[in-house]
Amino acid sequence: MHSHIDRILWSDHQISTRVSELAAQISDDFRGCSSVPVVVGVATGAFLFLADLVRKIELPISVDFIRAESYGSGTESNGAPTISLDLKVDINARHVILVEDIVDTGHTLSRVIPHLKSKGASSVSVCTFLDKPSGRKVDFHMVGEGKFYRGFECPDYFVVGYGMDFAELYRNLPYVGVLKPEHYK
Ligand code: 5GP
Ligand code: MG
Ligand code: MG
Repeated sequence: MHSHIDRILWSDHQISTRVSELAAQISDDFRGCSSVPVVVGVATGAFLFLADLVRKIELPISVDFIRAESYGSGTESNGAPTISLDLKVDINARHVILVEDIVDTGHTLSRVIPHLKSKGASSVSVCTFLDKPSGRKVDFHMVGEGKFYRGFECPDYFVVGYGMDFAELYRNLPYVGVLKPEHYK
């Protein structure tokens, strides 16, 4: 374990098991779609989850990324993110599965989902690795028949690892943990 980590919440083994379950569910739900679904990762945090998830989805899919930045600092976002990297793939009349590392306040999704809808997505689902319902400040809504998938419910801690950073560190840890207090600086 990394010396800055106080404790591990989900090990790489627990993560892998849960990601397989999510991928099986998504494969079942999207099998038989008339168009090829587009899996859209929210950069940068979703990169590991996206990579693991898509390798286990047993369907033809497209993959793309979008980036939404809220100019907050430290451990809290400050609302109204702007889209600083847009899609390359055309999502018009296609089903989109938006992949997030963690949903906290809801600001990111409440900005990104309407953006995908405006580009003509026939549905927008969300697949988030972690969901922190205690942090919610704004609502967001799936589009069309879109569903909400989540890996685990996250307690009210700021977590790092498996794609998630503090000050652009710790993204490469293969597990999710909580930092020792002296490293949140
Ligand atoms: P939201 O817009 O829902 O507040 O969350 C958006 C982003 O904030 C997440 O995608 C993630 O990048 C970041 N975030 C929220 N909670 C955490 C956390 O506990 N740890 C880390 N590393 N990032 C978080
Ligand atoms: Mg994110
Ligand atoms: Mg971050």
